[in-house]
Amino acid sequence: MAAGESGYVGMLANPMPSWTLLPSRAFLNLFSPGGSRGRLTILIYHRVLPQLDALFPGESDAENFDHQMGQLAGCFKIMSLLDAVRGLREGKLPPRAACITFDDGYADNAEIALPILKKHDIPATFFVSTGFLDGGRMWNDTVIELIRGAPGDTLDLAKIGLGQFEIGTLPQRRQAINNVLDALKYLPLESRQSRVEEMCILIPVIPSNNLMMTSDQVRLLHSAGMEIGGHTVNHPILSRLQNDAACAEIAHGKEILEGIIHAPVRLFAYPNGKPGRDYATDHVRMVRKIGFDAAVSTAHGAARIGSDLYQLPRFTPWDRESMRFMFRMAQNMLKPVDTV
Ligand SMILES: [Zn+2]
Repeated sequence: MAAGESGYVGMLANPMPSWTLLPSRAFLNLFSPGGSRGRLTILIYHRVLPQLDALFPGESDAENFDHQMGQLAGCFKIMSLLDAVRGLREGKLPPRAACITFDDGYADNAEIALPILKKHDIPATFFVSTGFLDGGRMWNDTVIELIRGAPGDTLDLAKIGLGQFEIGTLPQRRQAINNVLDALKYLPLESRQSRVEEMCILIPVIPSNNLMMTSDQVRLLHSAGMEIGGHTVNHPILSRLQNDAACAEIAHGKEILEGIIHAPVRLFAYPNGKPGRDYATDHVRMVRKIGFDAAVSTAHGAARIGSDLYQLPRFTPWDRESMRFMFRMAQNMLKPVDTV
């Protein structure tokens, strides 16, 4: 499938002006000097949309992502996550070390993000949940698509215990989506799925089935030199599963990806990823035993020498303004890191 280069790259914003690079690097060197005092910033992305989504203006789009990658490439030493893990292990991180990661396996990662990463010569790791490849959809995207397209000004989900929502304006629609996602997120897998199916019956919208990558797109990313990492099969909250089911999710996701790329999958990302809430020490042990080299959480902060390589923290970049973005990157390096 023709997932490769798109026309977006040519029309994107310019990266950070070069006169700001030296002071930015000097500023960041104070927080991330390298060697035994090195800090590793790992950024987490999910989707990169072709253009700004009015319903979710905080979501990355091609223009914003290109701008951020330009800034990052100018100010940080962006490495592959496997190289960075080796650097952490050996106490040899370069100054201003950073990695880029993507979670879940959205098709736009291959269609929109990959050409931008190649343009800036930036490596990245893509953590893919295998159960949604080739036409699947994550439950949260079904909810988003249904409520995004729901007709009228009011959405009545009282029949399935979710209440009634005003959806006449974009902020109301966004609020309705967030409320429904919050109500469903921590339900057991089966009851969450049946609620979502009931929503599909109540709301006359057909959600798209090309949001997630195809197996060919996973191979495309891998053959472009990107790392592919495990993210389970069905993206469950591991701490809500029995241990044998959690172990099977982690192991099968790895096997399926290895079957697709014909290479070892050595990195893992915990679904949802908050230490203590979404995964526990048992899961860290499983990930190690199953044969991964390292794993990432969604705790804030930056890793340092001696950090648990199976619970590396990640940071969600979100500021569209250049200098504020750099400042937040520096602030993140000072945060204490949560682990289990
Ligand atoms: Zn995820």
